[in-house]
Amino acid sequence: MAIPMANPKAQIDALKTEIASAIESVLESGQFILGPNVSALEEEIPAVCESRFGIAVNSGTDAIVVALAAAGVGPGDEVVTTPFTFVATTEAIMIVGAKPVYVDIDPLDYNLDPNLVEQAITERTKAILPVHLYGQCAQMERLEQIAKKYGLMLVADGAQAIGARHKGKGIGAFGDATTLSFYPTKNLGACGDGGMVLTNDPNLCERAKSLRFHGQDGAYSYQYVGYCSRLDEIQAAILRVKLSYLDAWNAARSANAAYYMEAFQDLPLQLPVTKADNYHTYHQFTIRFPKRDELKARLAEMGVGSAVFYPSPLHVQKAYARLGYKEGDFPEAEKAAREVLSLPVFPELTTSQREQVAEAVRKCVQELSD
Ligand SMILES: *Cc1c(COP(=O)(O)O)cnc(C)c1O
Repeated sequence: MAIPMANPKAQIDALKTEIASAIESVLESGQFILGPNVSALEEEIPAVCESRFGIAVNSGTDAIVVALAAAGVGPGDEVVTTPFTFVATTEAIMIVGAKPVYVDIDPLDYNLDPNLVEQAITERTKAILPVHLYGQCAQMERLEQIAKKYGLMLVADGAQAIGARHKGKGIGAFGDATTLSFYPTKNLGACGDGGMVLTNDPNLCERAKSLRFHGQDGAYSYQYVGYCSRLDEIQAAILRVKLSYLDAWNAARSANAAYYMEAFQDLPLQLPVTKADNYHTYHQFTIRFPKRDELKARLAEMGVGSAVFYPSPLHVQKAYARLGYKEGDFPEAEKAAREVLSLPVFPELTTSQREQVAEAVRKCVQELSD
């Protein structure tokens, strides 16, 4: 039996009765947009992530767009960010009319290297946009100090890191805003698209709430050119059911990760590094191996799924050629893109499945290292 990289259906199957009755209540209520489930979720998710406010939107991508716009980022502004992330991070910067300015990553945690941020700041810089990649919080305290020193906004893409902690605090406690995605395979996934902006700033919260609803400030009165980006009640109801299992699911991911760490400790590959004072939620368990493509192919032959996040950094993508970067500009991001491989770590992975993954990885890595 082949082992998949993710299995979002397993959670739905396990919670079918609860989820069906939550959906049924929404259908009965006849309230489908910005109703009681969205309001409740906007209290419950910030409580988990330790922010004051939550603004539910249509997707994790929209969450970044709305957060940046609410933070006042727009045409002519530069945003310092990472080239080693899902495309949505950069796309959102472009959608609000600003320009991504990349700095390289730290090769240990794959997150924006705070040591490189200051040299990228210019008179046009308006914000810093780190990503909590693979489920590990970026160096937010350092980034907060830099943002404060230069008067910049700090918005973090936390799409992969709901439940992660840094220096004893949830990801929502840092910066001006943090964004989440409820894409089905994320640590907390809906049965469709969804996202949220987290913030501690009442003014930013007010702007984000207005922006997600066409920029309105009253019935048919508009203060901004906004977006149509609301989370719907059915998704909110499903997310509320699933939210009570998030801690257990994240703990199961951690246990799977701990098992792999132990099983691979003597192998010639780079294991994930958790930085001091971080609780890693293992959205991905990502190893590095120079012959990555061969390893991936052999694992597939043995029925073990794996995936590359991400095979190419954003500064060499066609769509972003206009930014003027070239191959060689961000050597750590480029090297990571050639070497990273994520293994199945989802919470429903059984003990025998993870043994099968570990055995296959051991065998293939040893053969490829001879
Ligand atoms: C998933 C993801 C997004 C986008 O979320 P969607 O809900 O798919 O729009 C943004 N950034 C990162 C890092 C992601 O992993």
